[in-house]
Amino acid sequence: MKLSRELSSELNHLFLFELSDKSTVEAVFYRGDTLCVSTQVGCALGCPFCLSGSKGLVRNLTAEEIVGQYTILKDRLPIKKIAIAGIGEPLMNWSNVERAFWHFKSLGLGVSFYTTGHPTSKLRELIELPHRGVTISLHSVKEDKRKRLIPSAGSLEELINTLREALNKLSARKRKSISLAYLLLEGVNDSEDEIKSFAQLVKELGVSATLLRYNRTVEDYKDVDDSRYERFFLLLRTYGIRVTLSTRFRRDRLGGCGTLAVNRTLTEC
Ligand code: SF4
Repeated sequence: MKLSRELSSELNHLFLFELSDKSTVEAVFYRGDTLCVSTQVGCALGCPFCLSGSKGLVRNLTAEEIVGQYTILKDRLPIKKIAIAGIGEPLMNWSNVERAFWHFKSLGLGVSFYTTGHPTSKLRELIELPHRGVTISLHSVKEDKRKRLIPSAGSLEELINTLREALNKLSARKRKSISLAYLLLEGVNDSEDEIKSFAQLVKELGVSATLLRYNRTVEDYKDVDDSRYERFFLLLRTYGIRVTLSTRFRRDRLGGCGTLAVNRTLTEC
C-alpha cells in the first residue's frame, strides 16, 4: 500500500491510501496525537446519513493494511493513540482488527474503538480487551428507528441484553470507558422524550454518553442547531451521567464519522 493523497484543514489532516488492488481507504490525524484508521474498504451497515458506507462493502482490510496506515505516517506525525473509528465496522472484520489491536498495543499505543456493536458475539470480546474506550453507536432507543438509521446492525434488544451481561463483569471504572453514542439528526431522533429514554438507558447500564452533531455529508439529514444541542447536553447531565460532546475536531470538514469516503472526489485544500 502507499500514501496517494493528503488534505489538511486548520484542525485535521486526512490521508488517502491506495492498496495493492487499487482500492482506497482513508485515515485522519486529529487532536495533535491521534490517528483514526479504517478497517474495511466501504461498509456493509448502510447508515443512510453516512457517505463512507454509501457504496456498500468492498472488502475487509488485512491486519497489515490496518497497521500500515500507522506505519506509513509514524515518522512524520507524533501519533500516541489509535482510534479504530474510520471507514468500516471493526467487529465485522474482527480477526484482522484484533491482530492489529495487539500490534498497536505492543508499540505502546493506546487504542480506542467506535462500533455499532454488530455482531454482538464480537462485541463481548472487544469489551474485554485492554482498550482505552469503546463507543457504541446507538442513535435511537427505538428498535424500528435504529433499524432505519443503522439498517444492518441487528436487533437493538439483543445489543442491549449483550451489554447488560458483558458490563456486569466489569468494574465501575472500566464501565465508564464504554460509551453509548447518539448522533442528533434534526426531525429524526431529536425529541425530548427520546433523549430522556436514552439518558435512562445510559444511567441504568452505568456507562457514559457521547452526544454527537452531524457533519452534513448527505443532503437528506441535518444537524440540530446550537441551542438545541446545548439543551440536550444539559438534559443528559441532569441524569448525573458523564457526557462527551462533539469536538471541533469532529465537526471540522475533514473530521467525523461519515465524512470519509471510499472513492472521494478529492479537492485540495
Ligand atoms: S456510519 Fe459507520 S457503521 Fe454506518 S455506514 Fe458509515 S462507516 Fe458504516
